Amino acid sequence: MKTILVICDGLGDRPIKELGNKTPLEAAKTPNLDKLAREGICGVMHTLGFGLRPGSDTAHLSIFGYDPKEYYHGRGPFEAAGIGIDLRPGDIAFRGNMGTVDENLVVKDRRAGRIRDTTPYAKALDGIEIDGVKFIVKPGTGYRVGVVMRGPGLSSRISDPDPHELDVKVHEAKALDNSKEARFTANVLNKFLVKAHGILKNLEANKQRIKEGNPPGNYLLVRGAGYVADTPSFEKRYGLKAACIAGAGLYKGVARILGMDGIKAEGATGLPDTNIESKFKTAVKALNQYDFIFIHVKAADSLAEDGNYKGKKEFIEKIDKAAKQLVGLKDTLIVITADHTTPCALKTHSGDPVPLLMNGPGVRVDDIKEFGERNCAKGGLGHIKGLELMPEILNIIGKAPLVGA
Ligand code: ZN
Repeated sequence: MKTILVICDGLGDRPIKELGNKTPLEAAKTPNLDKLAREGICGVMHTLGFGLRPGSDTAHLSIFGYDPKEYYHGRGPFEAAGIGIDLRPGDIAFRGNMGTVDENLVVKDRRAGRIRDTTPYAKALDGIEIDGVKFIVKPGTGYRVGVVMRGPGLSSRISDPDPHELDVKVHEAKALDNSKEARFTANVLNKFLVKAHGILKNLEANKQRIKEGNPPGNYLLVRGAGYVADTPSFEKRYGLKAACIAGAGLYKGVARILGMDGIKAEGATGLPDTNIESKFKTAVKALNQYDFIFIHVKAADSLAEDGNYKGKKEFIEKIDKAAKQLVGLKDTLIVITADHTTPCALKTHSGDPVPLLMNGPGVRVDDIKEFGERNCAKGGLGHIKGLELMPEILNIIGKAPLVGA
């Protein structure tokens, strides 16, 4: 039996007056999701635990059965992996922007006029070695870059050199504890950033930008130092060959760190204009090569963070339309859920549980007729934690190990 797990980012919400005190999911017309719920079993999931407000990264790790307490040491590694950097245990990874500073190193533009392609900038800095530490620098989307420090004796316990605001001088990285490793890491990173600034100032691409009246990408603003833990692959852990279909970088990164293959789906952008039909179609097609397909759909979360409940409701209807392809699949467990709730009224993540449905051969069909937060709370799966989802999936697909004899 195969599994398709669809994680609709930020799908959960709270009742909204303008929607007749329904949530966007409850208010949306979702005949296909409702059918899957009606013929399946529902519940709600507290991805990190009761009342905890999950980040997308920690929530995804939990859902895949990797306890964030053990496997999450900062956002950087997931972003770096998401742009295609192969990480090793012990690496320190950062998120980065190409930014603009003046002659006093005061930040004038955190995105260097939204530089469209950082390839020449990353190339100029990639591979530099300082005190036995190698710097890997790769272009991300737009003005973003991924930065990894590789070498012995490194620590992620350092502060951000990126000041996160305009008109202040870039910071020096500082050790956040008393360890020799943290002091060493901060020191090497600071040396690198000075060297990088020197190289970027003289870069041909920047001379061109200045000539065109654009702010140059002359400083590497890095933040979110993260340590890469030794992470057993999803396949090793569960015996399931897994693949990921996602548009946005972070989710590709989580999948890559767990050793899942990445599959490209035409038109998958991670934005409201994304082609969900194409993602689901690609997933169904990939079932003959994989046991487990993880599909990530981003935009319900971004729309909720803009407070756009109408847009969120419409986007959920778009998910539903595409989900027709998931109805009636043979020998396949369909799991549809979210990583966290993003109430439009709060414009940020909350600790409310997320709706969950499982549809496939063998599930104990319950009485839930429509897919929604409050209906699911009355479902046969009850309340589960994120770390309990994979055991439940393994149980239904007949892969759960016997506990005892
Ligand atoms: Zn999320």
